[in-house]
Amino acid sequence: RLPVVAIVGRPNVGKSTLFNALTRTRDALVADIPGVTRDRIYGRATLGEQPAILIDTGGLEEAADEVMAGAQQQTRLAVEEADVVIFVTDARAGVTPDDLEISRWLRSCDKPLYLAVNKTDGLSEAQAMADASELGFESMTLMAASHRRGVERLAREVAEGL
Ligand code: GDP
Ligand code: MG
Repeated sequence: RLPVVAIVGRPNVGKSTLFNALTRTRDALVADIPGVTRDRIYGRATLGEQPAILIDTGGLEEAADEVMAGAQQQTRLAVEEADVVIFVTDARAGVTPDDLEISRWLRSCDKPLYLAVNKTDGLSEAQAMADASELGFESMTLMAASHRRGVERLAREVAEGL
């Protein structure tokens, strides 16, 4: 079985952009999973030299409505399925209360976890790194997924841990 990598984070941080950059496609497979309200998106990627399955998720935030509740359930299922989790944050937004909550939950899941700080284009890398250190990760990858910057580095790091 190929290793499975889930991409998780708040809405709008760039998870799908990262997914598309890693899978080098925009037509990701949508898997029909019975008993869930919203589908996770699956794709194939080569991380470094390592073939893997990627899962894009709908995003985690306070479930204010049914759509978000469905997305949360999707994310939980994706993480359950995953061998490794990429936690994406938005350097422009800084660390939000939702980021802190998601990171606490992800740590409790006991899976190898990679922090990818996205949207660092045009920002000071030192500042972005200092801001994100509040999340308490030992290491992180700064990236700008929409510019493909840092994406290969992240892919290689994740592959090394597989
Ligand atoms: P998702 O909701 O987490 O899947 O986020 P999306 O991938 O849909 O991206 C949300 C928005 O952020 C879109 O408008 C993207 O173009 C934008 N975005 C994604 N990555 C970057 C980045 O590295 N830099 C900037 N400036 N914008 C980005
Ligand atoms: Mg998305």
